[in-house]
Amino acid sequence: MAEKKKEVVLRGIGVSPGVVVGSVYVLASKSTIVPEWDVPVSRVDAEFARFEDAIIETRRQISKIQKNLMESTTGRDAELFDAHLMILDDRTFLEDVIEGITERRKNAEIVVKDVLGKHIDTLSTVDDDYLRERVADLRDVSRRIISNLSGDSVSQLGKLNKRHIVVAADLAPSETAALRKDLVVGFATDQGSPTSHTALMARALEIPAIVGLHDVTRTVRSGDEILIDGNKGVLIINPKPNQLKKYGELAKARKTIERELTTLKEEPAETLDGHRIVLSANVEGSEEVDAVLQYGAEGVGLFRSEYLYMSQEKVVGEMEQAEVYTEVAERLSPAPLIVRTFDIGGDKSIFGEQSMEANPFLGCRSIRLALARPDEFKVQLRAILRASAVGNVKIMYPMICNVEEVISANDLLEEAKAELKASKVAFDDDIEVGIMVEIPSAALTADVIAEHVSFFSLGTNDLVQYTLAVDRVNEKVAYLYEPTHPAVLKLIKLTVDAGHKHGLWIGLCGEIASDPIIAPLLIGMGIDELSVPPSAVPLIKDAVRSVTLSQAKKLAEKSLKASEAAEVLGYCRRLTKEVAPELLELI
Ligand code: PEP
Ligand code: MG
Repeated sequence: MAEKKKEVVLRGIGVSPGVVVGSVYVLASKSTIVPEWDVPVSRVDAEFARFEDAIIETRRQISKIQKNLMESTTGRDAELFDAHLMILDDRTFLEDVIEGITERRKNAEIVVKDVLGKHIDTLSTVDDDYLRERVADLRDVSRRIISNLSGDSVSQLGKLNKRHIVVAADLAPSETAALRKDLVVGFATDQGSPTSHTALMARALEIPAIVGLHDVTRTVRSGDEILIDGNKGVLIINPKPNQLKKYGELAKARKTIERELTTLKEEPAETLDGHRIVLSANVEGSEEVDAVLQYGAEGVGLFRSEYLYMSQEKVVGEMEQAEVYTEVAERLSPAPLIVRTFDIGGDKSIFGEQSMEANPFLGCRSIRLALARPDEFKVQLRAILRASAVGNVKIMYPMICNVEEVISANDLLEEAKAELKASKVAFDDDIEVGIMVEIPSAALTADVIAEHVSFFSLGTNDLVQYTLAVDRVNEKVAYLYEPTHPAVLKLIKLTVDAGHKHGLWIGLCGEIASDPIIAPLLIGMGIDELSVPPSAVPLIKDAVRSVTLSQAKKLAEKSLKASEAAEVLGYCRRLTKEVAPELLELI
């Protein structure tokens, strides 16, 4: 009788809703995790070939390192790598791996690790400096061969040929963006938090996802069957039939509610007593415009333009960018397209220098990088201006920390306009300019900044991070990441009031806008526009349409007097339970 596998339940942070069951693919990381899987008899020869290719590639890389060292140093350092090449030519090592693959029927990565690991263990116990050096060589070669076998994560993902749930230590936003929706039906990671750009990307792709599971990569193996519930953050390894049934029913019930919500598509986002707000969408690229229209968003409140750069790892040319913005603007017109100028840095590094920074979230990120590279910034400004000739396009500067930055960015915008004028290129001279309020200093000086812009959009994902000093991608401090913290609410209110006093409209495009229990609170605080992932539009519309403005205002009043984040959440939950209990099923 086949052995029954034990069911194991893990809990993490659900960051992209939906339930999915599937076979696991563990993505090998550059660091410690070595993937392991069974190799059927029919694939043993192919495994030998993979091993041989990895040895050839490793030899090529080491020879190249040697050559570079010879050219740049005295040549002595290059000799150190002779020991690495000797390991690659060692017959015993090569034969042990071939034998391991044949007899254990395991993949080459794990066999290489075990074969060299045995030597490492033996040599590590010997008290001899020379042999200790050899341990370091063995470790280095082992890592290099394994990495050449696995490929980098993007190429590993590229090799997937059937549907899987991907499990990884972490996924960079660029790796998440490379996921193919038809092959990756969900993902789960050790690290990560709800507002990491990886999580945002999962939501954009509508792939159920859980992050912050700590050691899921060590608990599951490629080929295991798992269930993930992206709403509740529950991951079940080898789910029993009763679990599958329970989750199947839950998923069906959620689908029914979601279907009902789509009937709201043509309805306005207004409260029961007729207070209208604008409900728009956050997108990472032009391919999401279909979803924006399908879910009935009123334009794009946040176009994360940096993804355009990230997919190419460089600054994209003016005409290429203009083409993208023009196409999106035309499709949305007359609804607005708000292009946020590139927000590179933090967890979205593309230029090597940011990854070298000790504190990338506090470093040369976003508008700081743009102002440090004015020519590249102007390439983007001219591209956005070009698109403004055909649609309702607005410009938004991210991560503003003082009014000087706004003035400098506006000066560059004027230069960009003058350059286009000189070339007789059409654009909207009255293009609206706004800023993201996502640093406390911007909220606290909103009244000064308001004189230079037409709108504010509160970026609460970062505002929470910078107000509470909590790294938004660090799961170890995720418990402190509280968007309803009284300090955050006070900064939001300050921004709204200062903006309104100067006749600005105020949006909010952080993730809390897509939480249906928090949306009424934001409206009560005076937010005019909520911008959310496209798939969250129906949910938020229902939340807006279920309350009166006076209920929302009362909620805001009480919340602004609260002393704890949990107290605010309690008030929000109570109101939703009273006016739209069905929404609680969906979160
Ligand atoms: C934010 O910070 O709230 C925001 C919307 O921008 P991003 O998540 O891209 O940093
Ligand atoms: Mg931000």
